[in-house]
Amino acid sequence: MIKEAMKTVSDLWSLMVGLKVTGRYFLEPQVTVRYPWKAVDNIDTFKGHLELVPSKDPFKPKCISCGMCALACPSNCLTVVKRKPPKPTPEEEKAQAEAKANGEKVKDKTPKDPEKFIYDYTLCSLCGTCMENCPAGALRFSGNVYQAGYSRNDFLFELVAHMQTKADASPKTEFEPPVAETSEA
Ligand code: SF4
Ligand code: SF4
Repeated sequence: MIKEAMKTVSDLWSLMVGLKVTGRYFLEPQVTVRYPWKAVDNIDTFKGHLELVPSKDPFKPKCISCGMCALACPSNCLTVVKRKPPKPTPEEEKAQAEAKANGEKVKDKTPKDPEKFIYDYTLCSLCGTCMENCPAGALRFSGNVYQAGYSRNDFLFELVAHMQTKADASPKTEFEPPVAETSEA
C-alpha cells in the first residue's frame, strides 16, 4: 500500500516537472513559422547546395579549372571538365611551329573557365572543404531552401549551366549598361 502511494507521488511529481518545462516553452516566443503560409525572412546562414560564383561577366564563372576543389572533396562530389584548346588558325599553326623550332614556349590560349562542372548533391555533406581550397573564391553555398526532386538525378547539377540559367533569369544585373533616360519632347 505504501509502495503504491509512493509510486503515485513519484508519478505526479514527474508530471509536474514535465508541465513546468512545457509551460516555460509555451510562453516563449515562437521560433518556427507555419510554412507554406509564412516563410522565414533571414536565410543568410542557410547552407544550400554549392553553386559557382560568377565573374564580372555573369555568364562566366570565376573558376579557373584548377581542380583543387575536386581533389580536396572527401565525398568525391565534384568533377571539373576543362575546356579543350581551340583549333588554331593556319597562321597560328605556322607561328607555333616557328616558336617550337626556336625552342620558345607556345602560349596556351585555352580559356580557363570549365566546360562543365558536375556536382552530386546527394553525396555532399556541405563541409565547405572545396571552398576553403579554392584559390579563386569560385564556390559558395546557395540560399536555395526550396530544392526538391523526385529522383537522385534531380540532385545532380551541372553548375556552369545552373549559374547561367540563374543569370538569365535575373531581371537585371549590375554588369548591364544603364538604360539611357529618354525624354519626350
Ligand atoms: S561541401 Fe564538402 S562534401 Fe560538398 S562538394 Fe564541397 S568538399 Fe565535397
Ligand atoms: S572551383 Fe576553385 S578549386 Fe574548383 S576548379 Fe574552380 S578554381 Fe579550382
